[in-house]
Amino acid sequence: RAKTDGRGIFRVYSPEMGSKMRRYHYLLEEMRLALTSQNFSLSFQPIVHVEDCSIDYFEALVRWTHPVEGNITPGEFIPIAEESNLILELGDWIMQEACRQMSAWYNAGMRKVRISVNVSGVQLKHRPLHDWIMAMLGKAGLPAHALMLEITESCFIEASDAVIEQLELLRNEGVLIAIDDFGTGFSSLSTLAELPVDIIKIDKLFIDQANENPKYNKILNSISELGKELNLKVVAEGIEHAEQFELVKNLGIQCVQGYLVSRPESSRNVGHKVLTQNLNHIAATGTGVWLP
Ligand code: C2E
Ligand code: MG
Ligand code: MG
Ligand code: MG
Repeated sequence: RAKTDGRGIFRVYSPEMGSKMRRYHYLLEEMRLALTSQNFSLSFQPIVHVEDCSIDYFEALVRWTHPVEGNITPGEFIPIAEESNLILELGDWIMQEACRQMSAWYNAGMRKVRISVNVSGVQLKHRPLHDWIMAMLGKAGLPAHALMLEITESCFIEASDAVIEQLELLRNEGVLIAIDDFGTGFSSLSTLAELPVDIIKIDKLFIDQANENPKYNKILNSISELGKELNLKVVAEGIEHAEQFELVKNLGIQCVQGYLVSRPESSRNVGHKVLTQNLNHIAATGTGVWLP
């Protein structure tokens, strides 16, 4: 049902829109509460080298357990947090908590892995990136090289020169930068060569399609070649099956992330897993993978 609001502007109302708006405002209020009542937590998913399955880094992924509704997915609440700018406060907490956890692991001897944190476009725009990140690292007592930032390809495309400059400053400090969801944002090859990045994370979409459509194998292959050409590490996201693992391995992609290797897990389970794998590795080869 469309009607004019008296000034000749058409407004379309639908019951669906009303319930979407209600859900938006409800979740926004609940997120504000969750921030003060500590109902957010972080999960950690390992990204491993294809070659020997040793852990390259952990991606920190925010989790929200609502007291009544149970788990609400980041796919639902992150867009609302971004639209409302609440992602600034939530993102501060995420960065602080990720650095704190990584610092604890680092001090326990996990020196070869780093932590990777998703940073949204709103944060890029409104946080003084260099000073913000350096303060977080300082507070946690974490060296810059133990941190990586994941920024989606579409955020990179929209980023101002000032933002790119801030990322360059951070990179000079030793922080690593990854392009997340690569292949979905349509950046041009010339911009890719200019961006301050170390890692390309190929979106899950390409992995899913590779089985169905051989054209996607070719795209994966060219991204892999591009990575080699530009000296960027390439990670394939969303590896769920052994055939997908074999495929990306044969294409020369260095790292994978996905349920085949591990789902995102609590910090406790991660610590346990790492310890077990390390002990197995020591038993098999005589040297530890994770300890210095
Ligand atoms: P992303 O950064 O691309 O993160 C990867 C997502 O893929 C995660 O979903 C992860 O659980 C999922 N995943 C990993 N391996 C597999 C697999 O083999 N199969 C399938 N089906 N999924 C897999 P999650 O945790 O639900 O997060 C979804 C998105 O929400 C993230 O995509 C990211 O864009 C956003 N997000 C999550 N945590 C944060 C955060 O702390 N800050 C910000 N700004 N965004 C976040
Ligand atoms: Mg990510
Ligand atoms: Mg991604
Ligand atoms: Mg994604």
